[in-house]
Amino acid sequence: MLHINTLLFIVITSFLLSCGQPSKDIHETRFMMGTLVRFTIVHPDKDIAKVAIRKAAQEMQRIEDIFTIYGNKPNSVKKFNRLPIHTPFTFPSEVNVLLETSVHIKKQSHGAFSPSLAALNKLWGFSNAEPPSTPPSPASIQNLLPGTQNCLQKQGKQWLRTSPNCQLDFGAIAKGYAIDRGIEVLKKYGIQHAMIDAGGDIRLLGKHGENDWRIGIRDPRHKDNVIATLSLHGDVSIVTSGDYERYFISHGQRYHHILNPKSGWPSYSSESTTVIASNATLADAWSTALFVLGKKGIKIAEKLPLQALIIDSNGQVYHTKGMPINLLTKP
Ligand code: AMP
Ligand code: MG
Repeated sequence: MLHINTLLFIVITSFLLSCGQPSKDIHETRFMMGTLVRFTIVHPDKDIAKVAIRKAAQEMQRIEDIFTIYGNKPNSVKKFNRLPIHTPFTFPSEVNVLLETSVHIKKQSHGAFSPSLAALNKLWGFSNAEPPSTPPSPASIQNLLPGTQNCLQKQGKQWLRTSPNCQLDFGAIAKGYAIDRGIEVLKKYGIQHAMIDAGGDIRLLGKHGENDWRIGIRDPRHKDNVIATLSLHGDVSIVTSGDYERYFISHGQRYHHILNPKSGWPSYSSESTTVIASNATLADAWSTALFVLGKKGIKIAEKLPLQALIIDSNGQVYHTKGMPINLLTKP
């Protein structure tokens, strides 16, 4: 555990730092999943790299389409959320696997991660085209909160929901899964050195030319400042959740998109959390879970194959013993 003075609040959204040695990068950026997704590939054949990126982006768009709860295109998640309660439903296997993972992480995180908050998330409206500027009324939150916890039941291979307020939202995990699928496509095209960065959700492969990939962790209250760096190589995922990603300030209070499932209001345990895991699905889900848990999440992370850094709401920095960061000192 260490403390950084308040001017140096570390927070999250990581971003790629340019490295000393220039490498032959092929870059493409696409808008998907509500964010800019940046592909960086190091490969001698630009044409192969371009095709690989196009196919990876198509696959990631497919994942967004099957998990999103927004827009008009039908999918199984939207269908489930509208079914009468207690109606058993069979999900396509890919959705089923991510739901199983989500329910497991909900248990491991003592309910901090909750995949059944769609009704509340929609009420807050942070994923709307027009972002909110005032909080919903306390009464409307109280109305949608009951029946959102422990409300998903399994019958054989089918799922049912036990209350109308219980509606699925994979917003805290599906982006990570989409990145994992994108990386699988890149691998199929023989790409060994690459990075997919979806607004701070990152998976990288191999090296950046002669060097490791270098990732910066942002100061959550001064977005242009980097407060720590990491040098990573191989097949690694690093994901940040922050209260500065989607938020508004009303009457001096910050309201943001990560909810405390127990209250239905934004979680004020952390300013940001960064998680390193073997894949982006886990890193994404756990960055959200640990955000809600705050500093007590470090003990949980220590028992799992994760590395984590949490900046709590007082600007104090906590991290797991193996977190490979270089904290930058104040200039
Ligand atoms: P992330 O940006 O990965 O931390 O995920 C935040 C998104 O996940 C929100 O926009 C909501 O759609 C959803 N969400 C909000 N709070 C939670 C929570 N406690 N557990 C799981 N998903 C959540
Ligand atoms: Mg997440």
